Amino acid sequence: MGRQVDLVIVGAGPAGLAACIYGSRAGLNTILFDNGAPGGKLVKTHKISNYPGVLDVAGTDLAMSMFEQATSFGASYEYGNVVNVDANKNVTLDTGEVISSKAVIVATGTKERLLNIPGEKETIGRGVSFCAVCDGAFYRGKDVVVIGGGNSALEESLYLTRFVNSVTIVIRRDVFRAEKNIQEQVVNNEKIRIITKHVPKEVLNENGIVSGILLENVDTKETQVIFCQGIFPYVGQDPMSEILEKLDVLDEKGYVIVDSNCETKVSGIYAAGDVCQKELRQVVTATNDGAIAAQHAFHKITNM
Ligand code: NAP
Repeated sequence: MGRQVDLVIVGAGPAGLAACIYGSRAGLNTILFDNGAPGGKLVKTHKISNYPGVLDVAGTDLAMSMFEQATSFGASYEYGNVVNVDANKNVTLDTGEVISSKAVIVATGTKERLLNIPGEKETIGRGVSFCAVCDGAFYRGKDVVVIGGGNSALEESLYLTRFVNSVTIVIRRDVFRAEKNIQEQVVNNEKIRIITKHVPKEVLNENGIVSGILLENVDTKETQVIFCQGIFPYVGQDPMSEILEKLDVLDEKGYVIVDSNCETKVSGIYAAGDVCQKELRQVVTATNDGAIAAQHAFHKITNM
């Protein structure tokens, strides 16, 4: 007989950590799994300015205090790679271990989308980076290119200006997707220049190290090369929902469909945070989901 617990939470980002606070504080025997450092995307975010009650906090600091709080009510935190969740709430790890539980909250978040252009994959870690907070300091005094016009691209471009000589932001339309106040900061930053209506076609390298990027004008199809030492693609995210693939609870993009209790159509299986089908992906909405899911799971388990 394998391990049996009340609640398994998969993913220790803000949604999973909030679920852990609510679940374990309510007295549920809870295991929280992650296959990386706790904090999820928080640890890749240099500054959070819109989490209520906390003025301008470093993502790593917020992650650490959420993690300490989440594990202070008796939950166990384990490094582990969950590979499947079945309809009976059995959670399988890549070690082959199967843990049976009364409820599962999947809070696995999203992963950065690749540009999928020639030269990209072989230069990841050699000039192509998906984390300005992790790698920005390596580009001190250098010229870098950021691809994308969403919140991530613009916020991380602003962060990069602390180190680099210049940031060139490349967007495929002539408008940004990011919030207006971030756009204003970007437009007013003299280290940042913006190239509109261009898409990346190829990452160029010299001896395996990024040396530039080939861009194409979406209207004229003319090409130009931007010489740079770093490329930061921020072209969106895809859900990490593979562990629920067999349960028919995903939409056509792979996001998990949940009700207002954050429960899927499979009783006792919940999803919380960015992995859910939703409009607003924020730290505050992720923690909101985690709390709702854990509280509902608690009621379901204790009324059994
Ligand atoms: P996003 O909002 O989906 O933006 C992706 C950007 O990449 C868009 O500008 C998009 O262009 C562009 N793009 C997509 N595919 C491309 C391609 N193949 N070539 C060139 N450009 C491409 O992604 P995100 O910035 O990662 O944000 C994800 C979610 O997290 C959003 O809901 C966002 O609001 C949220 N978020 C919030 C904050 C915050 O509130 N502070 C911070 C970070 C993220 P188009 O606009 O032309 O489609």
